Formats: sequence, C-alpha cells, structure tokens
Amino acid sequence: MHYASHITDLVGGTPLVRLTAVTEGIDALVLAKVEYLNPGGSSKDRIAARIIDAAERDGLLRPGGTIVEPTSGNTGVGLALVAQRRGYRCVFVVPDKVGADKRAVLTAYGAEVVVTPTSVAPDDPESYYSVSDRLAAQIPGAFKPNQYENPNGPLSHYESTGPEIWHDTDGRITHFVAGVGTGGTISGTGRYLKEVSGGAVRVIGADPVGSVYSGGTGRPYLVEGVGEDMWPGAYDRTVVDEVVAIGDAESFHLTRRLAREEGLLVGGSSGMAVAAALRVARGLSADDVVVVLLPDGGRGYLGKIFDDAWLRSYGFSELPEERTVRDVVT
Ligand code: PMP
Repeated sequence: MHYASHITDLVGGTPLVRLTAVTEGIDALVLAKVEYLNPGGSSKDRIAARIIDAAERDGLLRPGGTIVEPTSGNTGVGLALVAQRRGYRCVFVVPDKVGADKRAVLTAYGAEVVVTPTSVAPDDPESYYSVSDRLAAQIPGAFKPNQYENPNGPLSHYESTGPEIWHDTDGRITHFVAGVGTGGTISGTGRYLKEVSGGAVRVIGADPVGSVYSGGTGRPYLVEGVGEDMWPGAYDRTVVDEVVAIGDAESFHLTRRLAREEGLLVGGSSGMAVAAALRVARGLSADDVVVVLLPDGGRGYLGKIFDDAWLRSYGFSELPEERTVRDVVT
C-alpha cells in the first residue's frame, strides 16, 4: 500500500508547468512552480514544520503551548496543520484587508483569529505586529514564530524549494522570479540556486508598487501577502539581483488571465510574480529557462480579484463585460 502517515508529510515536491498562453511572443521557456498543490494550499506549508521543529529543539515551545503569529493567512494554515498534529493551540493576528473567506479557512483548521486594522503604522499599538507581540507576552506558554525574522523560513526554501527546481530543470534554470513578502522564499531558494549554479542563476524579486523592496515607503496596495513597509531579517538582499515593481492593476489582470488562459486559479501575488517574469523573459532567448513561483491558489480571492464589482469599486477597468443569458445562447 502507498500512503502518507499524515497530511503534513505531503508538503513540497510541487510540479513545474509551462506557461503557454500569457507567454505569447516570448522565446524563453517560462515554467511556473505550482505551490497551491501543497496540502495547506500555499508555499507557506514548507516553513511551518521547520520553524516548529526548531522551537521545540530550542525549548521555546513545550507540550500544550500556544503558537501566536501575525499572518496574512497562508503561514497560519501551515502552522495550524503542524500544530494540530502535535497538540498546540494557534492564535493568529490578521490585517483586515485579508478576505473573510481566508480567515474562515484558519478557523476551520481550528485556529483562533484576531483581526487588526491594515492602515496603521507598524509601531501603532493596534498594528498586527504590536497586537501579536502583546498576545505572545500575555498568553502563558506562547511562542511567536516571527516569520519575518525567523531564519528557519528561508532555510526551509534553501532545503526544499531550491533543490526541487534545480532537479526538475536538470540544472538548466537561468532566472528565478518570486514575489517578496517576508523575503523567505526568494532568499532561501535564490541562495540555493546561486550556490549550486556557481552564481549563474539570476534572482529577480517581484514587489507591489509602493513597497520598500522596490524603493517605496510602504504605501498601501491591494495585492496580499507581498510587499513590506519595513525590512525583515528573513530577506537577504545580497541574493536578489533585481526587484521589479508591479502595480495592482497589472497583478490582477494577469491573475485573471492565468485562470482563464492557463487553467491556473491562483492568488494576486502569483499574477504579480508572473507579470515580473514576463517582463524579464521578454528580453531573453530560447536557451533561457525562467522559473516563476506561484505561492497560493485563487479560491481565497473569488470575492475580490475575480469579482468584477469589487475590481470596479477600486477603479480598475478593462474588465470583460458580464454575459446575459441572451449573449451566451446567440
Ligand atoms: N504570496 C502570498 C500569497 C503569501 O502569503 C506570501 C507570504 N507572505 C508570499 C507571496 C511571499 O512569500 P515570502 O514571505 O516567502 O516572501
């Protein structure tokens, strides 16, 4: 018989798929790494076990303890899966720009969710950083993984995401593109790919316009899970050769195209990363292999990016018109 002992044993090993429609006119091979095929639905499943293992080893997390973390949702799912198996309680602090359906996923896995305002400074007592610090101090036996500073985040990508991409491309990858949130994905994966290729792989970050990684100040943008208003320790800028800034309109446009034209129902940060990858790939030759990482799936964004009324309410245009019954049958 062939089966896993637990769902968390199925994390990683995600496939690469070629992008064929959105890449029209591009000579380079553009491959997407489909991270929504992880059991919790995102690349963040990879960091959870390694962070919890290290905390147990260091005595920071003991039986019956509580995991407290500010998370836009995906890290919470990864942590909740591991916590369930090992008997920990989870309390997650989420900014209010994160959709209700994403929050419902966290509670469905058995976590408790605290919602905080998005539009306050990081040092404001109501910010999601401050609230999570306060809860971690007040709850007995609490451990705060702090994905923004925890070296086990980038390390998990160094040990899994990087080697998987190198293996699956037979070492032919020339460019790696990923969105930057905590910076863990790009730093760990990028570092591995640079080391194994002797510095030949070029590492490109994708960042929302307004975020610090591409020279902004942290001005709010709508795409979730990427961009920052401060510099986290999980981000290693020595690994990243270039950062491409992408606006919300372009991110959402590509996110919708990926679903309609490539059969990839993914989140807005995936659309953003693909937008950056296409800009990079446009100048490349048929010998180049660009790998772009798609961090999560699109089901958590059906009421937002995939909802015409929501998009229009933010002034985005160029949406395909809604169809009436008559349009469809004639
Ligand atoms: N996209 C989404 C949807 C995410 O949740 C995250 C994690 N915050 C990222 C991209 C960026 O990954 P990282 O934190 O490793 O930079």
